[in-house]
Amino acid sequence: MQLNGCWTSIGHTTETSLVNKRLLVTELPGPRSRALMERKTSAVADGVGTTMPVFAARAGDGILVDVDGNQLIDLGSGIAVTSVGASAPRVVAAVTEQVAAFTHTCFMVTPYDGYVAVAEKLNALTPGDHEKRTALFNSGAEAVENAVKIARAYTRRDAVVVFDHAYHGRTNLTLAMTAKNKPYKHTFGPFAPEVYRAPGSYPYRDGNLDGAAAAARAIDQIEKQIGADNLAALVIEPIQGEGGFIEPAPGFLPALAAWCRASGVVFVADEVQTGFARTGDLFASERENVVPDLIVTAKGIAGGLPLSAVTGRAEIMNAAHEGGLGGTYGGNPLACAAALAAIETIEEEGLVARAAKIETLIKERLSRLAAQDVRLGDVRGRGAMIAVELVRPGGNEPDPRLARDVARFAHQHGVIVLTCGTYGNVLRFLPPLTISDELLNDAFDVLAEALEAHR
Ligand SMILES: *Cc1c(COP(=O)(O)O)cnc(C)c1O
Repeated sequence: MQLNGCWTSIGHTTETSLVNKRLLVTELPGPRSRALMERKTSAVADGVGTTMPVFAARAGDGILVDVDGNQLIDLGSGIAVTSVGASAPRVVAAVTEQVAAFTHTCFMVTPYDGYVAVAEKLNALTPGDHEKRTALFNSGAEAVENAVKIARAYTRRDAVVVFDHAYHGRTNLTLAMTAKNKPYKHTFGPFAPEVYRAPGSYPYRDGNLDGAAAAARAIDQIEKQIGADNLAALVIEPIQGEGGFIEPAPGFLPALAAWCRASGVVFVADEVQTGFARTGDLFASERENVVPDLIVTAKGIAGGLPLSAVTGRAEIMNAAHEGGLGGTYGGNPLACAAALAAIETIEEEGLVARAAKIETLIKERLSRLAAQDVRLGDVRGRGAMIAVELVRPGGNEPDPRLARDVARFAHQHGVIVLTCGTYGNVLRFLPPLTISDELLNDAFDVLAEALEAHR
């Protein structure tokens, strides 16, 4: 498809590629996006919001082209999903081949090898060299729910502990596990029982409590309020995502994992957002040599196709009775083909190392800004999962309005940036790992202008 001359032909194929730069040819949103937004308002439930008022036509490697021909820099990756790019050649080829062979049989009816191959890959790549098993699902929330089911079947206990600022999804059980009321939980209760919340580790806001002390505080509360004997699973994001890219103090995760092991509690790492090279390690748990009993993956796993997984110790994974796990679409063949191609892309293109390079570039840009602007309270995160927490001058009072204003300025100037955090005051950067340094630098020039424009 030819779109306003934004495409250049490669060889004599019909394949096209984006001219990799930011380019605004209309105001944002342009006329076609505005017309589509009117249709959206009439057709789509109001509860389904959008960050940007522009409609996508094509995307890949850090550029998104909208329906008016504007080219936006993508610092969101569709919320940490398209880590290998939104049209990665290996993914496109693998899915194209699979879609022509068959789209679906249901793995529970007549299985196919792609599912098994993805399970083998996950068993091999996730932390720990113990015997593992994997089950595949569709969304992150569905996989988190299944991790809890499996932990309960294995331990024959009921309770689940989660943490302040946690995000685990939007289904009923995972809403119980998610911390933040608005927009996630408000008016949607009552929520699933036997979910308990413990204090976490948030160095910027807990007076730099060290990891061991933060873990001791959480464990004390768990033992007093729940009791280890009643606890099936402890579920934690190694770096909290929606909660504000909160990286716990060193030692926090290893101490919790050790306590779980000693207490017969299943330690579940929710790596839905942090997994698959995003944080400069293949999995964020690796940084402190944490070996989760179960690890939940989704988002970056399949180059944009819906797929999620629970992977873990064989004896725990096999505790659920035959037929107890599954779902019509879980491990769909197109998604499995995409996952194998995405994993190959990560390996072949050295995207774990690329994420670390992106961290250096973004942190350097943000640190330079923070050195002359006290409103940038905390720059944190790892790999291509970096955030800055915006605060009012003279302290650390959250400034969600500044975050909103800066994000809006960036959007109007062709940079897709997301906010997050319990206080809504965190700008987060999640570019595809295949983005160029040029695009990143251009995007952070815009961010600098945005901060300057809202002094
Ligand atoms: C996005 C996310 C989920 C939920 O995944 P969905 O695919 O949206 O259901 C769960 N946990 C974490 C850490 C996430 O970032």
